[in-house]
Amino acid sequence: MQPVWWPIVSTGCVIGVDLGGTKLLAGAVDRELNVHHRAMRTARAADHHAVIQTVVSAVGEVRDAIEGASGSVQAVGIGIPCLIDERRGIAVMSTHLPLAGVPFRDLVAERIGLPLFVDNDANAAMLAEWRFGAARGARDAALLTIGTGIGGGLVVGGALQRGSQGAGAELGHMVVWADGPRCNGACPNRGCLEALVSGPALAREAQRLAHERPRSGLGEALAAGREISGPLVTELAHDGDTAAIDALAAIGRWLGVGVANLVNMLNPDVVVIGGGVVAAGELLLEPARAVVAQRALSPSREHVRIVPARFGAESGMLGAATLALDGLRAPA
Ligand SMILES: [Zn+2]
Repeated sequence: MQPVWWPIVSTGCVIGVDLGGTKLLAGAVDRELNVHHRAMRTARAADHHAVIQTVVSAVGEVRDAIEGASGSVQAVGIGIPCLIDERRGIAVMSTHLPLAGVPFRDLVAERIGLPLFVDNDANAAMLAEWRFGAARGARDAALLTIGTGIGGGLVVGGALQRGSQGAGAELGHMVVWADGPRCNGACPNRGCLEALVSGPALAREAQRLAHERPRSGLGEALAAGREISGPLVTELAHDGDTAAIDALAAIGRWLGVGVANLVNMLNPDVVVIGGGVVAAGELLLEPARAVVAQRALSPSREHVRIVPARFGAESGMLGAATLALDGLRAPA
């Protein structure tokens, strides 16, 4: 096997940053999409200064590690969970981070001194999966990244879609239950897919089942004072706990309702499911596919593939790196 530093020496690399609502993942990525160093941060930022400081510190950590290993960083790409004015690099609206109205691109570029490319985080994830991953070769595709919230990405007729103001493809805010629970953050709606299928929604459903079934693995975890979080539910489900499996299946069925809508609207070749929650794999996807088979229209429902993201929870980071690589190639 070739030593990992070889592509960096020959071609240089970029840093991709996936800035989520509660987590950040940064990675040094070469032109073959190999990841050479990762930096993670978990924090809820109080204001935009804190968010930008977290980004700058993670980029600095990756840069130090790579440049010490004799490579050089040529650009940075960042995916942020915001509606972005692409021309000016301003975060117009964000349901999960205190970035509304912040000239994010300029403020970060000033601190890091490298060419910087910014897009919506789910658009970035869609780009990585479409170009290199689970949606490769598709003419029509959708992506849902399920984490703190749900990001959406769309490829229609062979082109990434952002809508007329860059605010499109908010697939997580399609309504699947008109009188359902209130949505998160700045969304004024009820019963959005995000309100029923995100990581917090999984934790809520699991807590309900833990109370209802105290002798299950979930119930015992609750009695032992453990926090019933998405990753714990997935771990218990993989160990065979039926309450945890049922919690994932309940979330998976709501996911299926949302995907059935997408299938009817778009007749896609593939729907890619990414984000942290997809660590549950088939325990989440199989119930979703069953609902799509029952509810979506033919022939779209037979045609569509519903698959996990090839890059798992790293789609956003790799997509942000792809933005930077594309940006370096584009004429100035
Ligand atoms: Zn919503």
